[in-house]
Amino acid sequence: MVTTHAVMGAALVTLLPLSPRFAGVAALAAFCGGVFPDLDLLVGEHRRTLHYPDYYALCLVPLVGLAGLRTHALTVGLAAFVGAAALHSIADAFGGGLAPRPWLRDDHRGVYCRLGRRWLHPRHWIRWDGAPEDLALCGVCVCVVLFGADRPIRLLAVATLPVSIAYTLLRKRLPDLAPWLVE
Ligand SMILES: [Zn+2]
Repeated sequence: MVTTHAVMGAALVTLLPLSPRFAGVAALAAFCGGVFPDLDLLVGEHRRTLHYPDYYALCLVPLVGLAGLRTHALTVGLAAFVGAAALHSIADAFGGGLAPRPWLRDDHRGVYCRLGRRWLHPRHWIRWDGAPEDLALCGVCVCVVLFGADRPIRLLAVATLPVSIAYTLLRKRLPDLAPWLVE
């Protein structure tokens, strides 16, 4: 789920030993970076147009170096954003396939890897987006944020829970209720 990706990015940044001056902006940037790849649901081809499991990860190395050398809200935020987008793109390969009913395991597309010029196969660790284990992971990440992040990020993370619960409850009915959403 996109909400899991968002709070996973924020949770990871929360666990890093960042200066309190930059922790808030980094967590917010990571939350946004966790959402960003899934904007290709709106434009382009999902899990391909804005998903870069390879290039985001490669870009992250110099960006972390830059943030270390020139520590500023902008450089730290940029590194956190790209790091969360990389985590999201890589994590999609460990979920279900792209087909409207991923629990049928009838689609070999997990996420597109440009370096390999091929789709990475879905590994189904999270069986499908909106599976109970997806919601559980989201809940764990929200707890991490609640214990470690600033208040605005905590509120943002908690706000993802009702959305995640509703999505989990409805996910298996979505292909019938809103086929345009899952196609
Ligand atoms: Zn995605």
